[in-house]
Amino acid sequence: MTLHAPYDPGNIFAQILRGTLPCIPVYEDDVALAFMDVFPQADGHVLVIPKQVEARTILDMPETHLGPYMQQVQTVARAVEKGLTPDGLVLTQFNGAPAGQTVFHLHVHIIPRWSDVPLGRHGDGKMATPDQLEPFASRIRAALA
Ligand code: AMP
Repeated sequence: MTLHAPYDPGNIFAQILRGTLPCIPVYEDDVALAFMDVFPQADGHVLVIPKQVEARTILDMPETHLGPYMQQVQTVARAVEKGLTPDGLVLTQFNGAPAGQTVFHLHVHIIPRWSDVPLGRHGDGKMATPDQLEPFASRIRAALA
């Protein structure tokens, strides 16, 4: 995959947006969907993806959609902090395969950090089960309510 390529509507996150693949959601509105990463680098690892756009990377994102999307990234980040009370939060966003991107629909990772817990490696985790993810998702949802 190159940095510049046509948007593939068959990508995993497009399928999640269409409802043809499941996810464990924590937040959704007209602008963004946030859900649990199934290969979490830490407990409470959330992905926030924009809706109503075919943007592979930050470079493709229409300017008019970027501001509202980033506001919702902040909304979810605040809920992760409130719900899980980590010591820190890492936000990451990869553009292009050489940069580490593996799913080609724009997304921001929100990864809680605790002082005494090492960060898992990107793209190198064990797949979590819904039962493992749901307790963190419900605390984030409660923080958004
Ligand atoms: P990136 O490597 O930055 O493109 O991030 C893609 C992220 O999507 C990785 O952290 C994966 O663990 C995550 N991921 C892949 N498939 C799914 C899925 N079906 N549901 C939730 N997260 C996923």
